[in-house]
Amino acid sequence: MIRIEKTKKRVFTRRGVVWLGQTCNQRCYFCYFISRIEDHSHPLHAFMSLDKAKEIMNRLRYFYGNRSVDIQGGEPTIFKEILPLVSHCREIGLSPTLITNGLVLARPGVAQEYHDAGIRDFLVSLHGYGEVHDEVVGVPGAFEKISKALENIREAEIPIRINSTMSKPVIPVLTKVAEKAIEVGALAVNYIAFNPFVDQHTGRRRNDTVARYSEIVPQLTESIDMLEEAGVEVNVRYLPLCLAEERHRKNFYNYQQLPFDLHEWDYQSWMWSMMTPQMMKEGGLNPLFRLGTGARTLYRADHLYLRDNAEAHPFKTGIKYAAQRTVARIQQAVNKEKVYREEAKDRAVIDCNYTRGPACAACHLRYICDGFHGDYAEFFGMDEARPVTDVPVTEDPRVFIREQEKHVLAEDCDWAL
Ligand code: SF4
Repeated sequence: MIRIEKTKKRVFTRRGVVWLGQTCNQRCYFCYFISRIEDHSHPLHAFMSLDKAKEIMNRLRYFYGNRSVDIQGGEPTIFKEILPLVSHCREIGLSPTLITNGLVLARPGVAQEYHDAGIRDFLVSLHGYGEVHDEVVGVPGAFEKISKALENIREAEIPIRINSTMSKPVIPVLTKVAEKAIEVGALAVNYIAFNPFVDQHTGRRRNDTVARYSEIVPQLTESIDMLEEAGVEVNVRYLPLCLAEERHRKNFYNYQQLPFDLHEWDYQSWMWSMMTPQMMKEGGLNPLFRLGTGARTLYRADHLYLRDNAEAHPFKTGIKYAAQRTVARIQQAVNKEKVYREEAKDRAVIDCNYTRGPACAACHLRYICDGFHGDYAEFFGMDEARPVTDVPVTEDPRVFIREQEKHVLAEDCDWAL
């Protein structure tokens, strides 16, 4: 029996993430991995083996202490051994979520098979409504199938959450996404900015696919109000805090807020599981490490070199990882929040080139907001930044989000209730 609870306790998430391989039955132009999905010879394209996926899950559970996991492909429902993998996660105490486009789940009986295998919930990718959804995911008829899938999931009594990427064509139908979420009884909706991660750099972010923040805000504000009125949790990811209406600041998650979102991923295990060896079919796994001094150096190293080096010089490489782990363990014991906050800032500034405009200097939220994405600022400038001055200057990333009620499953969030 699924027990859903509401909580305002903002503690570190213990949710991990795994990518099985970049193989997919859709072609969403805003996909983080679209180039490797289209390139069948890319080393990250093919699905890994069930045994390798299980090994990754074991490390998330037993080394990183994760309690739940988001399983992604590409599209994980076309991974042949997905049901045994779901069951394995359930058996080791790692509640499994599938992030899915829903095409396969439109078939009768499939959702029930996941129920029986022990799925926790589905995070369904609904990128628009009607023809807009079909257009942005590159599959005619996809909306009809995802609608059928949502019905099937609901009938199988499996909780639903929804992801919606706010690329430009989707903005006019954001409220329709909200209506659909309410209709199917979704627990949560995540509205995600179309930001430049990984393959999204490759010419797919253009003025005609990236909406201006000022275009997004009216539709987004109305959608949040509709969803909250209906009791659905709403999370807005990767938009500057000054775009939020005051009543919606609690819903906005920048990098510093993300580790406290129980539906988001633990920075520490995330950093390990997104290293190349953990995302590809061939080869073994990387040594484990913790966030803290040296973690980013190891992450940024050439993974294959590291792996080969570890085989050639296991002692030296072993010492290096052992030293990093010891230092990081001490740093986290002393101040985990500081370590995670440093990581949040590195992700914004180093990984995504976030930038700030003159308005930000006067903003009271400047220490907890990421600012504007660098390439967004290049497209459109920083004119939309509005310094927030109606609250005291704060250094506390949880100042607003601690007012948000989250809908969680008691089975893997008992520690957060
Ligand atoms: S720091 Fe800049 S981008 Fe962030 S809320 Fe303030 S004005 Fe907006």
